[in-house]
Amino acid sequence: MLLIEGGRVIDPGSGKDEIGSVVIAEGKIMDILPGAGAPGKFEGRVIDAGGKWVLPGLIDMHVHLRDPGYEWKEDIRSGTAAAASGGFSSVVCMANTNPVNDHPEVTRYIREKAASQGTANVFPVAAVTRGMEGKEMTDFAELYEAGAVAFSDDGKPIRNPLLLRRALEYARAFDFLILEHAEEHELSEGGAANEGWTAFRLGIPGIPHAAEEIAIARDILLARQTGGRIHIQHISTKMGVDLLRMAKRAGLRVTGETAPHYFTLTDAAIEGYNTNAKMNPPLRGEEDRMAVLEGIVDGTIDAIASDHAPHDVYTKRCEFVGASNGIIGLETALPLSMALLAGGKVSPARLADLFSAAPARILGLKGKGFLRRGADADVTIVDPDAEWEFRESDVRSKSQNSPFFGWKMKGRAVAVLCRGRITHSLLHGVPPDV
Ligand SMILES: [Zn+2]
Repeated sequence: MLLIEGGRVIDPGSGKDEIGSVVIAEGKIMDILPGAGAPGKFEGRVIDAGGKWVLPGLIDMHVHLRDPGYEWKEDIRSGTAAAASGGFSSVVCMANTNPVNDHPEVTRYIREKAASQGTANVFPVAAVTRGMEGKEMTDFAELYEAGAVAFSDDGKPIRNPLLLRRALEYARAFDFLILEHAEEHELSEGGAANEGWTAFRLGIPGIPHAAEEIAIARDILLARQTGGRIHIQHISTKMGVDLLRMAKRAGLRVTGETAPHYFTLTDAAIEGYNTNAKMNPPLRGEEDRMAVLEGIVDGTIDAIASDHAPHDVYTKRCEFVGASNGIIGLETALPLSMALLAGGKVSPARLADLFSAAPARILGLKGKGFLRRGADADVTIVDPDAEWEFRESDVRSKSQNSPFFGWKMKGRAVAVLCRGRITHSLLHGVPPDV
């Protein structure tokens, strides 16, 4: 038995936001008691959550764990350690491993390794096409049986619209979800940064906004055509947000996510050929950054995900155009997003929705994303006032490709429970179970 006592308990699904205590036993939430203290003496461990937020365990719905195949960049153990340290009790991992997660054996390998070595729930996403080559569809039903929660060729766009149409039709029959990395490759090929003044001045070939927007528009239209469910990943442009807003107004089954770097940085961050600001889609302009923020505030954007993309120094400390895309993000996603709170733009409840309830809803993760009796005991305890600096030496990921070192942060996860097990703790007298 475990008691999280006297915290601000926030459950975005039910609208609950009040001081209370959470009773946990056998990996489940047994009860939520109102008030600052538990009535009577509690037989078990007690975590004092006074002054803290108690949220349903955070879910990062876009992570690259690099396992199998690229374990020197990250593996399931280090990736889930980084997740716990950043406040996440669950991660959803993409299929661009080696071998690609296009076969139930790979899906099962991920699930089993996560169960034995992981410190977070790991939900694998399987590929839409074999080898992510965009030619032949995988067997969705078989992969779902093995534990895949959705389908995506993330890292690569699905170039053939007929294939995406067929995939959406197949997915629709079982109510499966397709996550789309929206990129019109003919327009983006050879580009390495946002097409704009900064890239021009630095002599870096550009990726136009339209490369992303044409693909988002196509995806939305195919969702409309087929009635299938599609989720647009890492939206970075103003028009991308506008298209999603339009699709939602039209009642289409489309959702979308963004990543913290798209509302925190602009392409100015690539100055000095900083490869730790190189990602795909690229960092955009100020107008885009503001529009992504607005999309979060008005509810157009459903979820914030890190797009955690670990890379070793050899593929990052090199010439800009040839450098790998992506940054680590599990350990900075929450504090960077909490900066939105400082401006009064989003409430803690909305933050919990973006990071937990919405991903659980979109992906259909049973028992996740809410703090109620009977839910899995996945809980994130946040200290909204903690001031700290993000340092390279603190990183739990195997890779260090982040543009945020030296940043002063306010707010962080001080404890995480995953099915009742303490997977992360900075709290005095509360050692982690792992
Ligand atoms: Zn992607």
